Amino acid sequence: MSQYIKDLMVEAKAKNPSEPEFHQAVEEVAESLDLVLERHPEYRAAKILERILEPERVIMFRVPWIDDQGMVQINRGFRIEMNSAIGPYKGGLRFHPSVNLGILKFLAFEQVFKNSLTTLPMGGGKGGSDFDPKGKSDNEVMRFCQSFMSELYRHIGPNTDIPAGDIGVGGREIGYLFGQYKRLKNEFTGILTGKALGWGGSLIRPEATGYGSVYFAAEMLGTKGQTFEGRVCLVSGSGNVAQYTVEKISALGGKVVTLSDSSGYIYDEAGITTEKLNFVMDLKNVRRGRINEYAEKYSTAVFTPGDPELDHNPLWTHKAECAFPSATQNEINGKDAQHLLDNGVYVVSEGANMPTTLDGVKVFLDAGILYGPGKAANAGGVAVSGLEMTQNSMRLPWTREEVDQRLQQIMKDIHKTCVDVAERFDTPGNYVNGANIGGFLKVADAMLDQGVV
Ligand code: NDP
Repeated sequence: MSQYIKDLMVEAKAKNPSEPEFHQAVEEVAESLDLVLERHPEYRAAKILERILEPERVIMFRVPWIDDQGMVQINRGFRIEMNSAIGPYKGGLRFHPSVNLGILKFLAFEQVFKNSLTTLPMGGGKGGSDFDPKGKSDNEVMRFCQSFMSELYRHIGPNTDIPAGDIGVGGREIGYLFGQYKRLKNEFTGILTGKALGWGGSLIRPEATGYGSVYFAAEMLGTKGQTFEGRVCLVSGSGNVAQYTVEKISALGGKVVTLSDSSGYIYDEAGITTEKLNFVMDLKNVRRGRINEYAEKYSTAVFTPGDPELDHNPLWTHKAECAFPSATQNEINGKDAQHLLDNGVYVVSEGANMPTTLDGVKVFLDAGILYGPGKAANAGGVAVSGLEMTQNSMRLPWTREEVDQRLQQIMKDIHKTCVDVAERFDTPGNYVNGANIGGFLKVADAMLDQGVV
C-alpha cells in the first residue's frame, strides 16, 4: 500500500469514527486503486478518491409510528446520496435492527462502483432504518413504511434518487412505500424499483440478484472450461437473493446443500430440490418462519443453531466446490475462508454485499481461486432495477425472456470488464481489482468532466 493510500485511510478513519464497515469497504477499494493512481496522476490532483469517500448528501430523520398496542415507537431513517456523477442516486433500503450510518455508508460506497459496472447510467445511494420487520404485523409494517416515506418523499424522485429493496425490504414494503409516495405527491412515477408486476414492476426483478450471481459464477467457471453440472454448492441466507441463487444453480445442474438465517443453518446432503425450495419460499416469504422448520419437514436435513461464541461459521465447513454467501456483511472471516479452501471450494460468488472480511479476501486472492466480489457478482439486482426504470419511462413492459437475456448479457459484460481490467493492471485473474478499478474509472472520468462539485 502506498504512503498516499495509507494517509488517506488514516484521514478517512479519523473523519468517520465508529464506522468499521465503511473503513473496511474503503480500504479494499483504495488498495486496488493504488494501481490506477500511479498511472493517472490527474485523478490524484483532482482529489477524485477523496471526493468519492464523502457522500454528496446524508439525510437522517425521525420515524415515529404507532404499534398494534397503541404505543408510540420511534425509529431512525437514513438516505445516503453518495455519488451522482453518472446518473441519479440508485440503491436499496435496508430495514434491520443493525442498521446505522456506517453500515449504510459502506453499502452506498459499494453501490457507486457496482452501478458503474452495470454499464447503466446510475449513481450510487443507500438508505434504510433500524426498524425490524420481524415479528411485526402487516399493519405495523404499513404504518412504519408510511411514516418513513412521509419524510423520504421530499428527497427522492424519478430523476433524482430511486430507492429499491434490500434486507428486510421486499415486495410488501415496496408496495406500502410506493402507496404513500403516490398519495403525498399525487404522481404515478417510477420512484421505487422492485414494484409488483401489476403496477410498474419488471419481470425477473425478484430473481435478478440471485440469478445474476449464478450467471457470474458460470462465467468464472467458463474461464476453466467448466459448467455447474454436478457441482455441490453452499448457499447462506434464505431470503430473496439466496432463494433465486438456489433456483438457478439447480436449473444449471448443480446441487445446493445449505441455507441459513440468523438463527442457524440447515445442511441437506440430498440437495435442495424444487419442491424443497418452494417450501422455503412459502416459509420465508409468506409464513415468515425460521429455517429450522426445514429440518423438521425433511429428514435428510440437519439443523445447526447459530453459536455466537464460535470464531467461525460451521456452514462453510462442508465439502463443496462453489460457495454463494447471500445473507449479510462479514459472514466469511479468514478462518471460514480457509475452511472453504480445505473442503474443496474454488468458486466464490458473493450474492451479499461485502460478505467476506479483509482477511478472508486475502485468503481467496492468495489461493488464486475464482473469487467474484459482491460489487460485480451481485450487480444483477440493480441492473434489472435499471431496466425497470427504462420500462417505466417507456411505459412498456418487456417479456421475461427479454429481461433475462439482458441480465445475462450484463453479467457477461461485467465479468469481461473485471477480467480485462485486471489484466490491464497486471493482476490477471484478480476480480477484486478488476471490479474496483473497472467501476472507478467511469465515475472518475465523469467527475473530471463535471468540475469540482
Ligand atoms: P432478505 O431480507 O430477503 O434476506 C436476508 C437473509 O439473510 C435472511 O435469511 C436473513 O435471516 C439473513 N441474515 C440477515 N442478517 C443476518 C445476520 N446478521 N446473520 C445471519 N443471517 C442474516 O435480504 P436479501 O436476500 O435481499 O439480501 C441479502 C444480501 O444480499 C444482503 O447483503 C444485501 O445487501 C445483498 N443484496 C441484495 C440485493 C437485492 O436485490 N435484494 C441486491 C444486491 C445485494 P433472518 O431472516 O433471520 O434475518
